[in-house]
Amino acid sequence: MTALVKEPLAMERKVYIETLGCQMNQNDSELMLGLLAPQGFVPVNNAKQADLVIINTCQIRSNAEDKAYSYLGVLNKLKRQKPNVKIVMAGCVVQQTKDEVFQRAPYVDILIGTQNIHELPLLVEQAFQKDDQKHFMAVDKQKNKSTYDYFDDIVPVRQSALSGWVTIIEGCDYFCTYCVVPYTRGRQISRAPQSILDEVKQLADKGYQEITLLGQTVDAYGKDFTDRTYGLAHLLEDIHEQVPEIPRLRFMTSHPLDLSDDIIDCVAHLPRVMEYIHIPMQAGNDLILERMRRGYTREQYFELIDKIRDKVPGVAITGDFIVGFPGETEAQFQDTLDAVKRARFDSANTAAYSARKQTPAGIWETKGEGVISQKEKDDRLQRLNQEISEMAYEINKTYEGQIVEVLVEGKSKRKQFDRWRGRTRTNKTVNFDNFIDPSLDLTGQLISIKITQAHAWALQGEVCIAHKSHEPGILLSP
Ligand code: SF4
Repeated sequence: MTALVKEPLAMERKVYIETLGCQMNQNDSELMLGLLAPQGFVPVNNAKQADLVIINTCQIRSNAEDKAYSYLGVLNKLKRQKPNVKIVMAGCVVQQTKDEVFQRAPYVDILIGTQNIHELPLLVEQAFQKDDQKHFMAVDKQKNKSTYDYFDDIVPVRQSALSGWVTIIEGCDYFCTYCVVPYTRGRQISRAPQSILDEVKQLADKGYQEITLLGQTVDAYGKDFTDRTYGLAHLLEDIHEQVPEIPRLRFMTSHPLDLSDDIIDCVAHLPRVMEYIHIPMQAGNDLILERMRRGYTREQYFELIDKIRDKVPGVAITGDFIVGFPGETEAQFQDTLDAVKRARFDSANTAAYSARKQTPAGIWETKGEGVISQKEKDDRLQRLNQEISEMAYEINKTYEGQIVEVLVEGKSKRKQFDRWRGRTRTNKTVNFDNFIDPSLDLTGQLISIKITQAHAWALQGEVCIAHKSHEPGILLSP
């Protein structure tokens, strides 16, 4: 069942991968590196050092696609200096524009679609062996197997030694009118539970402290299984029971229509499932939600998050919003501002609507229907971000004086303060000092931090008690 070329080559080769876009893309990149490892490919941090360069593209917004082509321009120069380097273009842009890529960028050697990652090792080997052939391509429109069904022993090369992403469902069946995902990643395919459990156990053996189960609609996990009796809640319970060494378990991104009571109960009752849920709302106005084909009303969304808050005290809820959707009036946008206050989001990803030509909303824009000017979009985006930032600060203020459990990720990025950084169970970044024993390396530890000051996007604090070892999932009280 494994499609890998297993024979290790005598010579070590170097691969550089540039990843654009979401966590799913980043996890795909880790997967690609894992697939190439048996062929002797070792990751490097600079394209100039590499024998093989992969650009893993994103198409969610037009600027992400522009970014991909602009990076390809850089690779064109590299190819002229190093003609033997092989260039791979992967990801969503490939899936949608494969016919154009070789015309626009003939120096690209290999195109690999989001549903063909399993074919990468073979194509790379062919490209290195058949110098007379210019282009290699594997881009399918629809597959009926999960990427993981092609392998029995794939080991992703991960960026973090502490937090691991584990993809559990690929694709999406929703077809929101603005979104390219169902076209680029195909229909929903859930990965077999045992394959997920095996990967999580491997991560536990390596000392990982946090697992995030990933999917475009992660809470729809299992709905494509024939008997539909096993879903995300069962998976969370099984991981919780069978892999207790992992102290923190998260999942994202949830769709409001799939966030069932039993999933919420897992967040409420399983101590190693974190009190954090990311549920995109996208708009606060019913007509816009309908035109987006989201399948819920504003009130239904509020009812859902009220239920979550009732069951999970202290839960953090984050969302996604799009402003300037075709035809969105100022009054409808005001409903979105109002929804942020009503729902009390801890944070939200926001974006100005960007037309993707293959989607229904993209076609409306092409026809000039309801186009919102870029200036207006930018203005709404700025007002929405302001609203979210004020709400985030208001919520974070409630943390001041509290003692929270933090998983330490490493030294703070602002090195001049010689601080540490980590995350709360609710996924908030905490920068903190360790006045008790500054010599201790706290990386990977679960420790108790007293929050001394709130900011909109981070908390500040200090160590209450530092431990060299910890008991997973237990809050360490001072
Ligand atoms: S549910 Fe999410 S991934 Fe699926 S079509 Fe809608 S926005 Fe795209």
